[in-house]
Amino acid sequence: MANKRDYYDVLEVQRTASKDELKKAYRRLARQYHPDINKNDGSDERFKEINEAYEVLSDDDKRAAYDRFGHAGVQGAGAGYQDFGGFGSMADIFEEFFGGFGSRRRRRGPRRGADLRHDLTISFEESVFGTEQEFDIRRPEVCDRCHGSGAEPGTQPSRCSTCNGTGEVRRMQQSILGSFVNVSACPACQGTGEVIINPCTTCSGRKQVQRTRRLKVRVPAGISSEQQIRLTGEGAPGADGGPPGNLYVFINVKRHDLFQRRGDDILLNLEINVAQAALGDEVVVPTVDGETKLTVPPGTQSGTVFRLRELGVPHLNSSGRGDLLVMANVVIPKRLTEQQRKLFGDLAETLGKEVIPQREKGLLNHLKDALGDALGLS
Ligand SMILES: [Zn+2]
Ligand SMILES: [Zn+2]
Repeated sequence: MANKRDYYDVLEVQRTASKDELKKAYRRLARQYHPDINKNDGSDERFKEINEAYEVLSDDDKRAAYDRFGHAGVQGAGAGYQDFGGFGSMADIFEEFFGGFGSRRRRRGPRRGADLRHDLTISFEESVFGTEQEFDIRRPEVCDRCHGSGAEPGTQPSRCSTCNGTGEVRRMQQSILGSFVNVSACPACQGTGEVIINPCTTCSGRKQVQRTRRLKVRVPAGISSEQQIRLTGEGAPGADGGPPGNLYVFINVKRHDLFQRRGDDILLNLEINVAQAALGDEVVVPTVDGETKLTVPPGTQSGTVFRLRELGVPHLNSSGRGDLLVMANVVIPKRLTEQQRKLFGDLAETLGKEVIPQREKGLLNHLKDALGDALGLS
């Protein structure tokens, strides 16, 4: 076991490689080192090594075990083809392998349609209170004229003579592993088993047409950016009687000029002047539900946070709402009128010139006290 190479090195991929990247790397290398193709010394050993690495890394459980414990974690894996776990996985490997050649393999029988994506941008208020939106989407649909047969109405697709309607061609192949049957999609009918002699004039035999549809989506209150809404069955049509895919509406919430969302709370910065801060005042603040009054107590410091209960974002799919957190920002005037300058001068005399330096830590703690509860700092 000690002389085994790292599986990621074998497949020439990063440890973070996705399943897709693994599959691509595997196909490329398997093609390169397949003993039927590559007669160089050592290529069959390399081929076995590649298959073993892929067998482990393509399986989530085995990959996790390998990542944690190395080769010891997956002992027995790929000790030889006989250990692969029977004919099933062997067949998979070769299907995987030969699927990479030539025409794309298509399985017969019902197949589910592809999932589609639509991006929907909504306003901040719409995300808070929910909305119903219509949008247009261009998507493939079953052709009306031929009802998805691909053949001109009045005609029928006929059975493919190359594969006798099975959609597959079988061929014996020799390799160092012995002989095996290579099953691949029939090139004459692309695996469908049928050939269309008189293609439908609307879809040219493709069975589907692109069509623009207007759809409606109900966006629930409390949704946030990056969340998706599934419209079941609104994706691409399935093939050969398979169900359609789904349409996923991806939500993007526009930024608001005043409000910022944090969880289900809404943050609002509120500027007050020095007199309001020192003497206290009743001020009007905007909320998503309209304006409301807020009492600023005398002696309010910059950074003080006022929590207005239940004026935040409704919890998605449950009752209750977050809060509106209003942070006071005391604005010192930059320009003063003659009269204001005199008044500040008088004020200055009563306040004296004493300044009290604070240690930085103390200042930070003060800020944290002011914000901590509101912003979840600790
Ligand atoms: Zn058609
Ligand atoms: Zn055929």
